[in-house]
Amino acid sequence: MTIADNLHQVQQQIEDASKMASRTANSVTLLAVSKAQEINKIEQLYQAGQKLFGESYLSEALGKIAALRDYPIEWHFIGPIQSNKTREIAQHFAWVQSVDRVKIATRLSAQRMPNQAPLNVLAQVNLFGESSKKGANREQLPELLAAIHELDNLTLRGIMSLPPATTDPAQQNSQFREINAVFKQFQNQYSTMDTLSIGMSGDMIAAINQGSTMVRVGTALFGERPPNWKERIKAN
Ligand SMILES: *Cc1c(COP(=O)(O)O)cnc(C)c1O
Repeated sequence: MTIADNLHQVQQQIEDASKMASRTANSVTLLAVSKAQEINKIEQLYQAGQKLFGESYLSEALGKIAALRDYPIEWHFIGPIQSNKTREIAQHFAWVQSVDRVKIATRLSAQRMPNQAPLNVLAQVNLFGESSKKGANREQLPELLAAIHELDNLTLRGIMSLPPATTDPAQQNSQFREINAVFKQFQNQYSTMDTLSIGMSGDMIAAINQGSTMVRVGTALFGERPPNWKERIKAN
């Protein structure tokens, strides 16, 4: 299978899952997660029609963004954010999906350039208490959303979440249902919230069934990431 075949297959799965959930296929946006994947594969996917790409590690991402600057790709930052990295994130990305605390939101807004459109922001939420994952918990979320909403150079677009990994569709559905309930609750309050970013290669069907408007897919598009990719990226 070529990269273009993978894309068509994933697009078909999104369409099928949308139909099953009585939703239109264009209500779900596909973000291609290219972390640890080679630049030429990103190019192939772009040429097959994919325009949105997500990266998790800033230094790796900046190299790719520079190399691919001739393509009008919409870049999303989806990884953990250290406060000393916010300036480059604010300036090089169209979206940041992993804003997990007020301090980060404040810095991103202050460091977005005046000539740039407001940065599209998702609050990352962690509803299931996993200490290995980032994200605001239920108690922290109202204050975080209010801050993102109020900051001048940010637009609050919604929430992103990465629930506990499971291959059990029933558990996937129940976790995503809970996340969607939180999304809906705040959507009533903030009219700019139109994006629920849930679902990856292994659970996007359940996520679409539970209202996902953006799936973040890496492996199903690019193939497996190389062995030891985390160590390699962090060593950079
Ligand atoms: C890596 C990653 C993905 C993609 O995961 P796959 O299982 O390869 O589809 C999605 N979201 C986040 C936040 C990631 O870090």
